[in-house]
Amino acid sequence: MKALQEKILTDGIVLSDTVLKVDTFLNHQMDPVLMKEIGEEFGKRFEKEGITKILTIESSGIAPAIMAALKLNVEMVFARKRKSLTLQDGLITSKVYSFTKKEENEISVAEKFILPIDRVLIIDDFLANGQAALGLMDIVKKAGADVGGVGIVIEKAFQDGGRLVRETGVKVESLARIESLKGGQVTFVPTKQG
Ligand code: 5GP
Repeated sequence: MKALQEKILTDGIVLSDTVLKVDTFLNHQMDPVLMKEIGEEFGKRFEKEGITKILTIESSGIAPAIMAALKLNVEMVFARKRKSLTLQDGLITSKVYSFTKKEENEISVAEKFILPIDRVLIIDDFLANGQAALGLMDIVKKAGADVGGVGIVIEKAFQDGGRLVRETGVKVESLARIESLKGGQVTFVPTKQG
């Protein structure tokens, strides 16, 4: 997605060979115009998948997920990150190791929000090692529902997540795929659309 790639090039700060900071439009301050376009692009890419619900994880997944939900005319639910390991009634949980925070979170969703009849589109801001996406897929599976796809705003294609998630057979669509962050430079995986 060209507008997103341009925004990454103008605003993205390469913190290291593996971490990109995008706090001017995605991870802290958010750009509503770009977010609307992101939602429309996800909508286009998943409109034929029979999606009935969108699932993301707090907090940075919420904005792109709600925009995609608006476009696909379905409800959106976000998994909560919980510190306590105490189980509560009516929750589906999964363990997710956070790439940026280097800690394990138990994430949870109220079981009433994902039903066995649902076909769920999972959306997240970044795909790095795939732990967040796989944790969300685990929640969908535990709910007895189907995963209809995974939509990612920024995939770091040099990390393992893309391969791990695609290996499950699920359709993965990333709006920007970064090939490398080496030397402080962002380079994208070439696409047919450019
Ligand atoms: P994964 O679970 O795929 O290893 O990592 C995905 C999560 O880690 C995303 O939800 C995102 O919050 C965070 N993340 C991973 N890599 C980056 C990065 O380079 N920059 C930022 N800002 N967040 C990242």
